[in-house]
Amino acid sequence: MAKSKKAQGLEELAAQIRVCTRCPLHESRTLAVPGDGKFSAKVMIIGEAPGKEEDESGHPFVGSAGRFLNHVLEGTGLDRNDFFITNTVKCRPPKNRTPKKLEVDTCTSNYLFEQIALLNPKLIMLLGTVAAKKVLGVKSINEARGRVILHEGRKYLVGYHPAVRFYREDLGEKVKEDFALLKREVKKVKR
Ligand code: SF4
Repeated sequence: MAKSKKAQGLEELAAQIRVCTRCPLHESRTLAVPGDGKFSAKVMIIGEAPGKEEDESGHPFVGSAGRFLNHVLEGTGLDRNDFFITNTVKCRPPKNRTPKKLEVDTCTSNYLFEQIALLNPKLIMLLGTVAAKKVLGVKSINEARGRVILHEGRKYLVGYHPAVRFYREDLGEKVKEDFALLKREVKKVKR
């Protein structure tokens, strides 16, 4: 069967990302991480940047963040394969530093916004300040979390990245709240 235009477009973008040298982050990466998931996914999750395990495997949300997501999805009838999961920048910044503006601007203008346009999901969850600022222009996570934001014809949620729990224990409850809201909204999208 011929591939859909969407599948073809997303696969082409992934192939470009894997060999991309458009910003300095390509110098320190092991593997670029284009994103994983069904091309028919109605929900997209966008984090900040690949971490160590993602850089080594070439896949997003592996390790503890992946286990956390699997736990959150228990009882929804969905698993992580029902989502398209990616990051704002596709290559790991040295020592996990925050990606710089030039890196974020270069990567999103070439890849992330095209992925969103092709996938056309009903709901997007943005995890972390970098993703929320770039996609929605919000100043902080606290300003935007805990509610559904309608933007350019689709629903957005903003939340803390699950990894934040390891260095900010005080944010653990907020992470749980953010993913509880995702769980509720995912059920609506599924209908
Ligand atoms: S972070 Fe994005 S723009 Fe920079 S090298 Fe990787 S894929 Fe290319």
